[in-house]
Amino acid sequence: MKKPGIAPGDITSDQMDIAAELADAYSFGELRVTHEQNLVLADVEQRQLFALWQEAKAAGFATPNIGLLTDMIVCPGGDFCDLANARSIPVANAVQARFDDLDYLWDIGDIELNFSGCMNSCGHHHVGNIGILGVDKGNEEWYQITLGGEQGNDARLGKVIGPSFAAADVPDVIEKIVRFYIAQRFDDERFIDTFRRLGADPFKLAVYGDKARLKAAA
Ligand code: SF4
Repeated sequence: MKKPGIAPGDITSDQMDIAAELADAYSFGELRVTHEQNLVLADVEQRQLFALWQEAKAAGFATPNIGLLTDMIVCPGGDFCDLANARSIPVANAVQARFDDLDYLWDIGDIELNFSGCMNSCGHHHVGNIGILGVDKGNEEWYQITLGGEQGNDARLGKVIGPSFAAADVPDVIEKIVRFYIAQRFDDERFIDTFRRLGADPFKLAVYGDKARLKAAA
């Protein structure tokens, strides 16, 4: 449910009907909604997978980006939530548009990008390998970036890398982080493992340039 250009996790009422029909036809009527904003049909016969995939794809599901950068968790943010400090959906869509090459996404590999529109953290930004948090500064929308969060058995909270960014800068920042990771990783090393091996400082330098170096030296 992470088709680029659509609010992540969003589906239409017609798609909901189709998802229910697919669950009835292929998975004993069982359909699970994940906190990662996807749907799981948990009990599908292997020989029916291809037919299911064809029907799901025709209905606008089955975007092949599970676990990749554009399979991000994004809260409704300022477009729909009264508690928001900033919008999340248009900024998330801008990041998706920047990373629109599926080959490149597969080359980047497993990575979790989570996005919340305020500190209530419905988008689980704290535990994203890359987290984005919308903040309000002087009635303007800004975005704070955290790195190093992880969910699961080895869960940990990400750390803020520095001053926040304007919405228009967020895709550039994510791209700098990803490019630095690709330049530094060992063969099949995941983003989070490269981050843990190197620590936050070189990533800060990749994002802020000499400003980070000056601050570290101060
Ligand atoms: S994180 Fe904040 S803006 Fe996003 S849905 Fe939760 S309360 Fe609303």
